[in-house]
Amino acid sequence: MSVEDCIFCKMVAGQIPATKIYEDEVVLSFLDIGPISDGHTLVIPKQHFEKLHECPAELLGQVFTRIGKIAGAIATAMDSDGYNLLCNNGKAAGQLVKHLHFHIVPRSIGDGIFNRWPSFKYEEGKIEEVAAAIRKNL
Ligand code: 5GP
Ligand code: ZN
Repeated sequence: MSVEDCIFCKMVAGQIPATKIYEDEVVLSFLDIGPISDGHTLVIPKQHFEKLHECPAELLGQVFTRIGKIAGAIATAMDSDGYNLLCNNGKAAGQLVKHLHFHIVPRSIGDGIFNRWPSFKYEEGKIEEVAAAIRKNL
C-alpha cells in the first residue's frame, strides 16, 4: 500500500474527516471509528511508517511524550479504572491500517474486553536460545 492510499495519511492531509483529540506538528490523535470502549483513541505520527521498528527513535520519543499526556487526559475524562496501550504490527498481529498507530483503550473493572492471553512455559534451555537470537539482532 502506498502512502497515497493510506487512510491515516489522508486524515493528516485533511482529505477525510476525523474526530480529533489533539494535533501538533508531530502527531495526530483522534477517536477510533470502531471503538472497543468509549474514548478509544488512536495516536499516529504524522509521517508515514508502517511498523514501530521502522520509525526513527527520536520521532518515537516525541510520539511517546504526546501519548502519555493524551492517555492521562483520556483516563481522567472517561473516569476509567485503567487503559491499554496497544500497537499492532503486521498482519499476524492484527494490523489492518498500515500506518503506525497506538490504541489507547480505556478500561473499567469487569468490562470483559480482554482477559489474560494464553501463556505457556519454555522447554528446558529454550528461553536462553530465544534471548540469544534476539540479542544478536540488536
Ligand atoms: P489496527 O487493527 O490496524 O491496529 O487498527 C486500526 C483501527 O483503525 C481500527 O480500530 C479501526 O476501527 C480504525 N479505523 C479504521 N478506519 C478508520 C477511519 O476511517 N476513521 C477512524 N477514526 N478510525 C478508523
Ligand atoms: Zn500513512
